[in-house]
Amino acid sequence: MISISRIKRLICQQQNKPCVNLSNKIRPQKIQFKSTKDLFEYSKKRCVDALNLEKPYEHALIVDTKKNIVISEYVGDSKKCRLEDLNHLDLDKKNTAIIHGHPDSAPISTVDIKTMLDSGVYQVVAFNSRGEFSIVSRTPCEVKNINKKLMNLSMDAYNEHPVPHTLYNPFMHSMLSKHMPLMGLRYVSNYTCLK
Ligand SMILES: [Zn+2]
Repeated sequence: MISISRIKRLICQQQNKPCVNLSNKIRPQKIQFKSTKDLFEYSKKRCVDALNLEKPYEHALIVDTKKNIVISEYVGDSKKCRLEDLNHLDLDKKNTAIIHGHPDSAPISTVDIKTMLDSGVYQVVAFNSRGEFSIVSRTPCEVKNINKKLMNLSMDAYNEHPVPHTLYNPFMHSMLSKHMPLMGLRYVSNYTCLK
């Protein structure tokens, strides 16, 4: 049976309006952080704490790094976190970052990069349970056919996916290190398990 919240979401989608009753959205703390570093530390704690619970889950925040505020916050599950209203939010996109946790401790995924490109925000950050980061940012050197290049990277990552699975994170790290600069994007990580 279809739920009331699902009906509300469908109506919002049809009217192209932001939906206020998202099931996984929580009210963010209204804090004006003194610096972007403080905002980043707060967001990191929110994401990493969720990864260290008995039942770890993916937590996500959309933040404005100019005003140093959290725009919105979401609770996901052990595999993903939906940001359903991302494209309906009133964002200063050049100063907006998506910060989230990865329960599987993988670096930034091609889905994360696609979300960044499609939504127009400038950065996506993933944390693992140890609080290490993996970041992809846009630059003025972004290539014109970036979506095609990203799709190719996605397919290559899928086809060349290493076995056993424990090799996946270093594999993805090396793919990102090689391919992000070719797309005019910037990739940085301090994940220690990737080297
Ligand atoms: Zn992700």
